[in-house]
Amino acid sequence: RLILWNHLSRNISSLQDIDQKNDLILFLETIHEATVVNYHVKKLVFHFSSMRHFAEELRKEGFQVLYIGIEQGERSLTSGLNQVLKTFSASKVIVTLPYDYRVLEELQKLEIPLEVREDDRFFSTRDQFADWAEGKKKLLMEHFYHAMRKETFLLMDESLQPVEGRWNFDKENRRPSKQENSYPVPLRFQPDTITKKVIEEVRKRFPQNFGDIEPFWFAVTEKDAEKAFDHFLKEALPFFGPYQDAMVQDEHFLYHSVLSHYLNAGLLHPKVVCQKVDQAYRQKKVPIQSAEGFIRQILGWREYVKGVYWLKMPSYRHLNYFGAHRKLPWFYWTAETEMNCMHQALLQTKQEAYSHHIQRLMVTGNFALLIGVLPEEICDWYLAVYVDAHDWVELPNTLGMSQFADGGFLATKPYASSGKYIHKMSNFCEGCVYDVRQNEGENACPFNYLYWDFLIRNREKLKHNQRLAMVYKTLDSFVDSKIKKIKFDSARFLQQLDQLPSDP
Ligand code: FAD
Ligand code: SF4
Repeated sequence: RLILWNHLSRNISSLQDIDQKNDLILFLETIHEATVVNYHVKKLVFHFSSMRHFAEELRKEGFQVLYIGIEQGERSLTSGLNQVLKTFSASKVIVTLPYDYRVLEELQKLEIPLEVREDDRFFSTRDQFADWAEGKKKLLMEHFYHAMRKETFLLMDESLQPVEGRWNFDKENRRPSKQENSYPVPLRFQPDTITKKVIEEVRKRFPQNFGDIEPFWFAVTEKDAEKAFDHFLKEALPFFGPYQDAMVQDEHFLYHSVLSHYLNAGLLHPKVVCQKVDQAYRQKKVPIQSAEGFIRQILGWREYVKGVYWLKMPSYRHLNYFGAHRKLPWFYWTAETEMNCMHQALLQTKQEAYSHHIQRLMVTGNFALLIGVLPEEICDWYLAVYVDAHDWVELPNTLGMSQFADGGFLATKPYASSGKYIHKMSNFCEGCVYDVRQNEGENACPFNYLYWDFLIRNREKLKHNQRLAMVYKTLDSFVDSKIKKIKFDSARFLQQLDQLPSDP
């Protein structure tokens, strides 16, 4: 029974029907998996420590557990597995669906029968999603979400209608944050002996990797992850909905849950989490905007991107609708940029291995889209730097939602915006050397001219998109000199960018 770093749940399908006497549970930390990209050191610590804690719990329960740690220098999953299989003359490997199509392919090359089990911690299976998608030209998340609400009865009334008569409360959920708001802090945990040891090992073995290793405060056990969830439910969820899209300088978490890495590793269970939120709403502890907003993220978005990933892989990874080819600017790794919104999002990423959705989508993702970064480069960056990033969830979010590299399969229009959006939703512009109100010249906010340049460059690919009709109408009203200035400012900015060192 092979346990990967997204399988840390006692009820995982690969451990169901386990025979305590004859079955061996195997954990493998391999050099290859740990170096696929330049992982944030906090992410490595989180995965290794939570795997080690889970292995300990299984041992205490009386199971036979073999744990091969990174210090043993095992190179890859296949070489490690083949070695173990020989030693134990095992007849078969049982595993739950991995976090990455690449890993699945690697396991399928094993010289021994492999049983890959569905991951039933999700609300839907790959087949159910494929059935729903069958024959549809566009797979709208909102439609999928309605189907899932009906199937699960979450936030539904007795007559199978959405509670309070609406599916979606997004309109109420776009408030910029007020300066005077005070924010709850996610529950923090002191590293125990196991985590301290992992921190030292990661420090020693991955000295060049991205990110700050300390302070390390994530939960690494199911028990603590549940405490973190209960804390969120009480302290932050009531305000989660209205301020979902807000950004505030030096406030890293606002009312977000900071639970995605627990959910993705298996320390928290999406079904339990959604049921508790539904219950809190019915007990009038949480308003509908927040309960619905939160459940939609998990029952809707999380479930939907997982469905898209397994439906569209392996070709999905290579899509590049705009033919973007720029290298990722070096400051994504150093945070050294004068654009304050970018600096704040990148610095926080380096410190926390976390940033919330709007920072990912409308700041770092938006910028990469506007300047035309090669999708593969920006996808690798997201996979590396966020503690919650696993290929199945990172790829559709980055390649599809944020970079529109699938040509609109996942998103109905590109999430491209000028500085206006960032100004409206944050206080970053107040501390920036650029002026968000200026559209032209060296002092103008780069997002302003890059936004129009993006639309000009990609006109042929976007002009028939109904959701961009108004935007292209506005662009068509610009006089020639204005268009020339947009192109000039963008070319100057991009030339300066390309001259920066690419490998700090
Ligand atoms: P909250 O804002 O509190 O949301 C609650 C939960 O909803 C999250 O914990 C998460 O499990 C789920 N959720 C919300 N949005 C999404 C979404 N779009 N897709 C999947 N689940 C969602 N999320 C990941 O879990 N892993 C990733 O690798 C990842 N990469 C992303 C890359 C880009 C470019 C973008 C735009 C988004 C990405 N997301 C990813 C989605 C989202 O940004 C994170 O789930 C969220 O920021 C995690 O923080 P949180 O737990 O505080 O979430
Ligand atoms: Fe970002 Fe532009 Fe605002 Fe500066 S002015 S913080 S670059 S949006």
